[in-house]
Amino acid sequence: MAKGALYVISAPSGAGKSTLINRIRPMFPDMLYSISCTTRSPRKDEAQGVDYFFVSREQFKSMIKNNEFLEWKEVHGNLYGTPAAFVSEAVDSGRSVILDIDVEGAREVFSKFKGAVGIFITVPNMAVLEERLRSRGTDSEASIRIRMINAGHEMELAPVFRYQVVNDRLDNAVEELASILNEQTSRCWK
Ligand code: ADP
Ligand code: 5GP
Repeated sequence: MAKGALYVISAPSGAGKSTLINRIRPMFPDMLYSISCTTRSPRKDEAQGVDYFFVSREQFKSMIKNNEFLEWKEVHGNLYGTPAAFVSEAVDSGRSVILDIDVEGAREVFSKFKGAVGIFITVPNMAVLEERLRSRGTDSEASIRIRMINAGHEMELAPVFRYQVVNDRLDNAVEELASILNEQTSRCWK
């Protein structure tokens, strides 16, 4: 059986990755969205097992020990990890999967899965990014500053992704992302 495609979507925090993925979901009902584990607390609109598996640091560390992660990283002070079994079972059974992970995690996935398709979501300029981080209303000033510094580093690594989508006008970005997924779903992952 042909394997499913493995997509890795990364973006600087605030670029609009969650907004884009939410728009894409109903357009690709057969696509699986990997749910990561994290030690951060749920935001008010997030649910256990839907947005993330929210776990304690102790639970996360025991999962690392048991080799349960395809990759894991500390991002903005919290631990995040991709469940390995979920990803391999899905692609082996021919389902395509989207991983929503940070740039460092993406590089690790590319080194393990040569056929993974990297998509980097970016913004027209840094002022737009800052405006979006503020408009989201979930981050303190200190956390916005950290995210802006990290964004600079992440953008430097953008060339390791096969595709880059500039999220300027949302409808255009949705269309561009959908066309990448449409093109790739017909291909074998390996
Ligand atoms: P990320 O998941 O990348 O951290 P979000 O999806 O939370 O980013 O988006 C950050 C903020 O920017 C949100 O307030 C969202 O509504 C807004 N946003 C996303 N895409 C656009 C766009 N194309 N134009 C204007 N605002 C956008
Ligand atoms: P947030 O807390 O805003 O949902 O996510 C913070 C960052 O962690 C984002 O860049 C997101 O892509 C990344 N992230 C989410 N899950 C994982 C994961 O399983 N592994 C890695 N490496 N990064 C993740």
